[in-house]
Amino acid sequence: MGIKKTIRQTNLARRQHFKTSAKFLSFALLFTEVEIAWGAKILGVRVWPSEDYTRITLESDTPLPISQQILTNPDRLVVDVQGLELNPTLRDLVAKVKPNDPYIAQVRVGQFQPGVVRLVFDLKEPIKPQLFTLDPVGEYNYRMVFDLYPTTPPDPLMELVKSSARKESALAKSNEEVDFIAQFATKKEAPKSPVAQAIPEAKEAPAAAKYKRLITIAIDPGHGGEDPGAIGSLGSREKHVVLSIAKRLKDKIESEAYMRPFLTRDGDYFVPLHVRVQKARRVEADLFVSIHADAFIQPHAKGASVFALSQMGASSSMARWMANKENASDLIGGINIKTQDRQVANLLLDMSTTAQIKDSLQVGNSILKQISGFAPLHKGKVEQASFAVLKAPDIPSILVETAFISNPQEEVRLNDDGYQDRIAEAILKGIKDYFSKNPPVARRANS
Ligand SMILES: [Zn+2]
Repeated sequence: MGIKKTIRQTNLARRQHFKTSAKFLSFALLFTEVEIAWGAKILGVRVWPSEDYTRITLESDTPLPISQQILTNPDRLVVDVQGLELNPTLRDLVAKVKPNDPYIAQVRVGQFQPGVVRLVFDLKEPIKPQLFTLDPVGEYNYRMVFDLYPTTPPDPLMELVKSSARKESALAKSNEEVDFIAQFATKKEAPKSPVAQAIPEAKEAPAAAKYKRLITIAIDPGHGGEDPGAIGSLGSREKHVVLSIAKRLKDKIESEAYMRPFLTRDGDYFVPLHVRVQKARRVEADLFVSIHADAFIQPHAKGASVFALSQMGASSSMARWMANKENASDLIGGINIKTQDRQVANLLLDMSTTAQIKDSLQVGNSILKQISGFAPLHKGKVEQASFAVLKAPDIPSILVETAFISNPQEEVRLNDDGYQDRIAEAILKGIKDYFSKNPPVARRANS
């Protein structure tokens, strides 16, 4: 506090000085001098558009007060930032918002009053803004965050059901046919119905009949947006590598007759840890797979590993270290700690998860077994620690560290299409193996 006050007083003194000497200086020179002398500095302007929400981040060397107004006809969000002079970095924002942004039509930036910059967001539809500030953390200085959420968010379950409707009915049909054949098989009679005769290709059908409904796999690419995750010595960012692996896994699951994939993020934007869990629960996922490629303190650390939740402390100091690192994602990515849904989520996530952990260990081990076929493992069994993202009480949840991005050799591999594909394939095989032994139970009524 004391320091802040001193700075302000010094700035005031400088301002006085400039006022008296202004007549001896050209206006342009005065403008730049003043900007350097007492304007807070904007260090970065970032835009992260997504269907979930569009985020604007302004990074500054000083914390700055912000205020907001929502105007209608047409829909606009007006944000005033105190203690700021317009500068080129801030003007860059105008070009950084792209025409295909889901929520922002355009941005206007102007000096509203001396020391107050006004940002006007012209909106494509009404939005529910969340504005908040963040203290310095990691590589970041002070951040002002403007999150623009749609007032009517899309329903992920409805979209998933719509996109997998054809698969759903194909599975139902093949189940009917299998039941039909089974009926005759027990009576040792040849089926005469045209339905049954039309199934010479039904050799595969008995396997499919195990699954009375589609199995939903939530794939969770770690980090994103403001949170780059770990960064390798060649400059690879974990968030990009894991999204690429996740998309490969998604495509593979898509081509399985009895499974449907759901991505917790499909682009470069930040999703808070509890929201990842909420999303998986919203789509009634049968399994949650978080995909990572983290760094470790020792650069020679290598190999893939799989983690599950722990209720009684971590299984090793490395597992504890990993969980702490992953759980810090919200701090780096930036969440509004005032939102109430987070508290509700935390309450829910502390429910008992004994059965969940048992299933998670099983599916985790079956994935480890597949990976060990072509890549080194960091440890031959599933490790456990208190990962916030694995806390859905009702969904088996695992976190796969696909390799260490901090190991230069593994960093090269992580960027290799072949390795990414093999990892995705191994995860798929592990998942299939698990569900062939543990087919999910039929759901009640409408789902
Ligand atoms: Zn990670």
